[in-house]
Amino acid sequence: MTDRQLIPAAGGVGLRLKRGESLRIIDPEGGQSGDLMAFAQDGSERMSNGRTFDYNGKVYLSTNDVLWSDRSNPLLTITADDVGRHDFLYASCSLEMYRIQYGVTGYHPNCHDNLRAALRELGVEADSLPTAFNFFMHAEVAVDGRLSLLPPKSRAGDSMVLRAEMDLAIALSACPASTCNGGAPPRPLAFEILRG
Ligand SMILES: [Zn+2]
Repeated sequence: MTDRQLIPAAGGVGLRLKRGESLRIIDPEGGQSGDLMAFAQDGSERMSNGRTFDYNGKVYLSTNDVLWSDRSNPLLTITADDVGRHDFLYASCSLEMYRIQYGVTGYHPNCHDNLRAALRELGVEADSLPTAFNFFMHAEVAVDGRLSLLPPKSRAGDSMVLRAEMDLAIALSACPASTCNGGAPPRPLAFEILRG
C-alpha cells in the first residue's frame, strides 16, 4: 500500500524522486488545479515548457508525453492520465499577479512562493522559476491565439502519473487562484510516490 500525502489547500510540498520512481498526483475533491516544478536533484537542470513543446510538437500534454529540461534531457514521462487536460503556458501565480490581476494588497498565498520554499527545503535555491507544469489546469488557446481559463476537468479521485527519467527535486503546489479552479475556494490535492 502506498502512502498518500496531502498538498494543503493553497500550500506546497517538496519531494525527491529517484530515476524510475513515479509520482501520482490526485485531485481528491475534483476541480482543483496545481503546479508541478521539477529540477535535476543538484539543481543543474530545470523543466522547460519551450523544449517540451518543441519535442512533443504540441502544447496539450497527456499520456506518453515527456516533460523536458532546459538542457534537452527527459525529466518526466506522463504514464497515466485520467484528466487529459493540463496547462504548460502560464507562469505560476505570484504575489505580483494577485496584486495586478486581483487587486490584492498585502500577502496572498501563491504557487511561486510555495514552489520556491519547497525547493529550498530540498537544497535547490532558485531565484526565479521556469514555467511550472500546471496539472489539471484547463486553459484553451483559440485559433486567433486568445487564451481562456475554464474549470479543471478533474473529477473527485482523478489522478495522473509521471515517471522520473532522472533523479529529481520536485515541488508541488495546490493553486489558490480561483480563476484556475472554477471559482472555487482553495482545496487540497494529494500525491503518492510509487517506488518501482
Ligand atoms: Zn497558483
